[in-house]
Order: sequence, then structure tokens, then C-alpha cells
Amino acid sequence: MNYKHYSILAALLLLFISLTGATVRSAGGRIEGKVTDPKGGAVAGASITATDPVSKRTFTATTDSQGSFKMEGLAAGTYDIVIAAKSFTSGRVAKVKVEDGAVAQVDITLELVPVEAALTVGAGAIKANADPVYQDLRLKSKSEQSFSGDYATVNNVVLKRDAGIFTLKSGEVYFLTPVEGRFTGAVFIGDGQLILTPPTPTEKKSLQIFIEEPTLTEDFSKLVIRFTDKTFEELKASPNVKMGVNGPQAARARDAFRDNETLLRKTLRDNRELRTLIDIYCTECPGYFNAFIEGKKHNKLVYLMDPLGVPNVSPEEVLLFSYGDSDGGFWTAFHLADEYKKGTAASSEDHRLFDLDHHEIDLTIKGTRLVASDKITFRALKSGIRLIPMDLFRTLRVNRVEDGQGKELNFIQEGKDEDADFGVIFPERLEAGKSYTMRIQYEGSDALRDSGGGNFILIPRSSWYPNNGGTQFGDRAIFDVTYHYPKGMTLIGTGAPVGPETRDGDNSVVKWTSGTTELAVAGFNYGRFKKKELADKDSGYNIEFYANTEVPDELRRIQLQIEQLEANGQKTETTLGSITTTGMADQAIAQAQNSMRIYNNFFGKLPYTRIAMSQQPAGNFGQAWPTLVYMPYTAFMDSTQRSQLMGVRGGTDDFWRDVAPHEIAHQWWGHIIGWDSYHDQWMSEGFAEFSASLYVQFTRGNDKFIDFWENQRKLITEASPQTQGKKPYTVGAVTQGYRLNSAKTGGVARFSIYPKGAYILHMIRMLMFDTKTGDERFKAMMQDFVKTYFNKDISTEDLKRAVEKHMTKDMDVDGNHKMDWFFDEWVYGTEMPSYKFNYQVAGDGSLSGTITQSGVSDKFVMRVPVYIDFGKGWARLGSATVVGNSSVDLNNIKLPKGLKRAAVCALNDVLALNVQNSK
Ligand SMILES: [Zn+2]
Repeated sequence: MNYKHYSILAALLLLFISLTGATVRSAGGRIEGKVTDPKGGAVAGASITATDPVSKRTFTATTDSQGSFKMEGLAAGTYDIVIAAKSFTSGRVAKVKVEDGAVAQVDITLELVPVEAALTVGAGAIKANADPVYQDLRLKSKSEQSFSGDYATVNNVVLKRDAGIFTLKSGEVYFLTPVEGRFTGAVFIGDGQLILTPPTPTEKKSLQIFIEEPTLTEDFSKLVIRFTDKTFEELKASPNVKMGVNGPQAARARDAFRDNETLLRKTLRDNRELRTLIDIYCTECPGYFNAFIEGKKHNKLVYLMDPLGVPNVSPEEVLLFSYGDSDGGFWTAFHLADEYKKGTAASSEDHRLFDLDHHEIDLTIKGTRLVASDKITFRALKSGIRLIPMDLFRTLRVNRVEDGQGKELNFIQEGKDEDADFGVIFPERLEAGKSYTMRIQYEGSDALRDSGGGNFILIPRSSWYPNNGGTQFGDRAIFDVTYHYPKGMTLIGTGAPVGPETRDGDNSVVKWTSGTTELAVAGFNYGRFKKKELADKDSGYNIEFYANTEVPDELRRIQLQIEQLEANGQKTETTLGSITTTGMADQAIAQAQNSMRIYNNFFGKLPYTRIAMSQQPAGNFGQAWPTLVYMPYTAFMDSTQRSQLMGVRGGTDDFWRDVAPHEIAHQWWGHIIGWDSYHDQWMSEGFAEFSASLYVQFTRGNDKFIDFWENQRKLITEASPQTQGKKPYTVGAVTQGYRLNSAKTGGVARFSIYPKGAYILHMIRMLMFDTKTGDERFKAMMQDFVKTYFNKDISTEDLKRAVEKHMTKDMDVDGNHKMDWFFDEWVYGTEMPSYKFNYQVAGDGSLSGTITQSGVSDKFVMRVPVYIDFGKGWARLGSATVVGNSSVDLNNIKLPKGLKRAAVCALNDVLALNVQNSK
């Protein structure tokens, strides 16, 4: 397992958080009141939550510009009230009695939050979110009159936003008062319909996961629209629109807009105002359109069209998703219609606003607190941009940003539990191609977690420093990082250390650099470690092993229980009491050494000269960074101990056995060869998993190799609770990446991009296999591929070109030197064949038989290999091309006498639902 599914997964998980606090309006009692500051001034925008402690039902309200609020339709009873407002401590009023038809008055004065001393050390004079235009955007709807200006009465008006066609049949559109002369928000109340047909077959199939049909038709009664495009001007100019001011439902529109702001800020955690401000400050930017659709069938739909790319599915510009509990997920995503027309739609499209060149990070670890500054050099890629969005973990709080001359810059970062997206505002427009410098100072807890016994885990792996918000994984750059940390602790970075560790008082200081190799990500592991190392001349690597000297708390607790039981005379028959992970050093080093040698041989050497296998206090996943592998501590136990700790599965599951070869392979697949977009991530995970199969074959033999692929086949073809009962291969192509996961399909991506991604490369290897030269052709292709795309990101089409360059005559089944047939079937498709092989051996030893392919479409074609065994294991005889649901006959193939058995796909060469060989 490896990295960057986190962004999409985290987003999806967030999407599944249901909305709470919907205000119910009906008969009943009311609570009214006023919120003031210590000087008696009104506190606007305070949120009031009333909870019925018995039913746990909650009601919410927000104070207006006068500091007043009211809640209506409350069932009679007693409520506990919490009042929260920015810069104030929360206020609480318990046991407020509400009676039918009566008003309970609650007035409260809030205290100011004392300024936390630590946060102000070295902080700049400019505070977060101080930009006046940003403030205006953020607070606009607080005004009671915010929707009392322009409104449009509509009569069958069509708003076409790429493939999304919104028909506003009847009703009114209310506009949020403009900011800097720009309209950025609107609410439609009335009767409307959205029709959307995705532009590609793959995306139609994706939509059908959620709604049977390949076209969405959704009636709605309300839309909240956020935009920087010409929505206002377009509606105003329409002959089917009558403009007016102060429409009859302005207050309802305003409430709907405020609810939407709460949804964005607290549930979806998407700072829309930050995105809006990019365009307000960029006159030549084309503008985005974002509609929140309260549909009659699906009431949590969101449509987003953003020419700068939609986060999570970028470089695609259009996304329809739902944040509902039962229908949550990315329903469909695609490029702009124009790009399909021109043939420019591609996963290699680059929507970045800037390119990070260099990070110079100074990081101090104080307990679990990180205090850091990052001097960043970047190049602007688009002209006219003033606000650049960055990716920084939410609990790391920025306290100062300055430019290359030391001049302070404005920046945006809302509260850590809200839409904490970080962005830097430059006073002038950036010019494309020009280089800029900025220094970002930040600190915070909860990014580094203490698991006890000197075991620490770094939670954000690619956003513990400000990363490029326009990339899904990271932006390749040179990293120079100076770490300061308590002496006695060990820190392992990425790249290589520059000189030995030095002392600064009670701190150790060491600088790590990536040298001249740009890294997509940089990171570190930290803790109280014991180190062992081996210089492997054969692979050219220094292999380091770091295990924690003590076990993490979760394991220590189990050990204490065992000690207590045994002290009371009970026999537990476990050996967990004496567990250490340092004892596995030699085995872990040997695994790394074998992996490096095998991969060097197949894929070619890398520019690194060292690799660190380091332990992390997480038992269920491993992760790889350039030169640094984070291993689950459970992988450093023997299988007996793992069985005792985690049940039978722990002792037998391939995951722990193959986690080291998989993670080491990510040095090639994921780091030196990155991926263009989420459509191409299957190559990183799939190829790492494929590499583990090489490790199994060369260290444990062909039988285990066949078992390995049999296990992968089961993962791909069998339904499970984790996939919501869906057979993984049927859900979608590997190129859909982590988007395959949804409320309807569970965590199915893990059962697709890993095993099927691996199988695809395995099939290519098997197609290229030659009885005389073995894997030579395959190796040549892989090494050429690594050289060609060295330290670059690749697309699926790049792989296709590499295979075409090295393909055999047999692979040219269409006679056009193209591999379209293979990629259409296995990479972009979801078909799954089955095979039957019936054979006979004649008295003279000659072999005859029939190979039958079934369960596929008529055009489906595959080369199916035939193997023979004379008692010394499988040997390849040859292969046959089978088209569609048909059979191919083998007639009297002359063989020596004594054939023990024959089979098709003996090495699990072809991914199939079923392979039957019979005499
Ligand atoms: Zn992985």
C-alpha cells in the first residue's frame, strides 16, 4: 500500500458525514436572544446550538448584524445552549425551558479568547485572513440585506455549463450583493431540472453505478450557486428573465445561502471564498461555476465546472458528486467539451498555477510540536494570478508569510476544524515564467503523534510543509531540510544527510538534502531507534534498518495484561511478552537487499545510494518515500507473534510477507516514475505489486509465484463486504483510480488498481516471454521505460507507447504495430474471459486439443499460452490467438513421449474468471 489515496479518500469520508442541525420550522416554542462582546457591542455571525439532552436533537441559528438570533418551532422541553463565535470563548446556557407558543429569552456576553503566547512568538504583524476583499467575501451574507438587491424572475431559462444543462422552468434567482463589482453567489427557488450526459462511455458507466441510467435527469426546487463566471450577466441578458430588486423570497434565499456556507465550511471543508478570490484578483481567469442541487431524488448533489481543474479529479474540469450517506461518491468527472472536440483532453494536462523549484525548510521538533519555516522558490506558470493556493496540514498554523525582500504578505487559513485551506496573496500579479521567493513560517501540534515508548508517527506525509495545492501528490522540487530535535532521538530524512549530526544545546541538528535530484515529496521518520546497516556492493546501495527500541503503547498494554495473567499463575501460551522488533534486523535487511538486486536487474539502477527501512507505529500499512520506507511494526514480528496479536490472518496474510518488496519497488514506481493524474496511479500501485511477484518468484520459486497470482486473481474477481458485494473488476477500469471507491462500491479501488494493475504488467511480461531469451525483451522494455521517463510523471498512454516500441510479432494481433487491443480490453475495459483446454496425447506422444475462450464480447482477443510438463516443471510450448467466444484447435503437435500434463495459462498468464485444463 502506498500514499496519496488520502486526499480523495479523506474527501469521500468527509462527504459521508451527514448534515446535522437542520432547522425545523413548525409550531412549538421559540428561543430568542442577543449575543454581545464584553463592551456591549453586537457579535454578528455567532453560531447558536440548542440541544435537547434527551432526544439529542439539535437546532442551530446564527446571529445577525445586530447580534440577535431566534429559533422557532422547538418542541416543548429543556435545552442546553452553546454559543460560539470567532475570537471569543464559547458561552453555555444550560436548561433553557421552552413551552409551546412561548418565547424563551437568552442573552449572553462572550469573553474574548486569550491570545496564546506560543503562537505569537515571531508571528508577523499581518494576521491570517486579513485581506479586505477576502473579508468582504467571507462575511457578505451576514448582512440581513445580502439578498435584497438584484433578483431575476425566470421562465424556462437554460443555463448550460458544459455537459450540465440546468433548466430554470419557473421561479426566482436571488443574487448575493456583489464584491468588488463581481457577482459571486445566487440562490434559485422554484421549479427546475438538471440533465447531464457524460461525454465518454467510461463516464456513462461511472454514472450508472449511482443511477441505473447513462443520463442524469434530476428535478430540483432549489439551487445554491457559487460562481465567478458570467452567470449574472447571462441571466440578466436573457429574454426569458425579468429583473427586479428586493424579491419576495429574499430572506429565504439568504438563509439557504448561509446553510450552504455552513455546509462548505464545516462539512465539505472547502474554502469557496479562497477559490473565488483567485478569480477576483485575476481578471483574465475564465471563472468557475458551482451548483449545489437540492434534487427531488438526490438531495446532496454538487456540480462543479472549473477551468483551473477540479481538486481531486484534476486535470478534469467538470465533476458531479454527492455527499449523501447512501449515494456518496464521484458520480462522473470529465474534461471540457471543447477539449474533446479538439482532441486535447488528456490526463497530462497541467493546471498548476506555479511550479515549486526549491524548499529550504528549517524544522524544530519540540515534543510533538513542529515549529517550521519553509523558504520556497517557485516559478509562476500563469500570468495574472495574485493568490496561490497551497496544501498544508490543517493543524499546522501559519503565523507569517513574507516575500523575497522580507515584506509581509497576506495569507488565508481558517480554523483547523473548518475549511483550513491555505493560500498566499501577492500584492501584484505574477508573471508567467518569472521566479519568486517566499518564506512561510508555521507551527502546530497533532501532525506528529506520540505512540509511546519512543514511537512517533508523522500524520501528514506530503503536507507537513506547504505543497503545491494544484497537484494531487506533490510538486517535484529540490529539498534542503535542517532538522532540530531532542538529543538521543533519531531522525531519518529523505535524500542524504549533509555531514554528521551536530549539537545545539539539548538539540541535535542535522541537514538533509535531495542533492540535485528533484523529489516529488520529502519526509522523515522520527523516534528512539536502533540502527543496523549493510553496504551491498552488488546493488550499490547502503541498506539501513531502523527499529524502535521499545514497543508502542498499544502493544505494551497487551504485554502488561499478559504479565498480570502470568503473575497470577495463568499460562497464556504467548510469546508476545518478549517481543522486540529489533530482532528482525537481519531478515529485513536481507529482504531489502534481495528486492534491490532483483529490481536493479529488471528495471535498471536508480540515482539513490541508500535506502532506509524504518519502523512506524501503525500496524496495517506501509508507505514509501524516496530513500525512506515506513514499515508497519507488525512486519518486523515473526508470523507466530503476528498470529497471536492479530489472529490467524496475521500469520498467513500475504500483506505482511510482501509489504517490504512492494514498498521498496515504489522507489521506481511512484517516485522516479511518477504519475500524471489519478487515471495513471494504477501503474504506481500495480507495478509495485507486480514487483513483489518478481521477489516471490526469485526468492521462493514458481509454485509460490503461481499462488501469488492466484491470490491476486481472487482479489479482482470475488465480491466481498469491503466492496459492498460488488465483484471488483465489474465496477470500472483501473484508470478510474481511487474514484472507484464510493458509498455504492466501498473500498473497491484496493481490489482493482493494486491487483489488476499488477496483473496487467504480468500479462505484458508473459506476452513478451521467449522460450530462448526468457525475460530479456521485457527487461529491455522496462529499463528503456525508466530511462525515458526518468524523474517524470507518466500517463497510461506513455506506457502503451513503450510496449508498442518493444512488442513482439505475436503481440501484433491487429497487424498495425499497435497495442490498442490489449489496452482497450485490460486497461480501459472491464471484460473478464474464462478458458477451457481439452487435450489428448496420442500413442506417439503428439499433443492435440481445443482452447475455448468464453464470457467476452465478440471482438475480445487474447494470446493464450500453452504449457507442457515432462516432470521437471512447466515449460512454454507456444501460444494461440483466440478471438471472441470461440475455440482454437491444436492438431498433432509432435512431442517426445512421456508428457505428464499440459495446460493453458499455467503461470496464471492471463487474468481469467476460470481456467479449466482437462485430458
Ligand atoms: Zn503501494
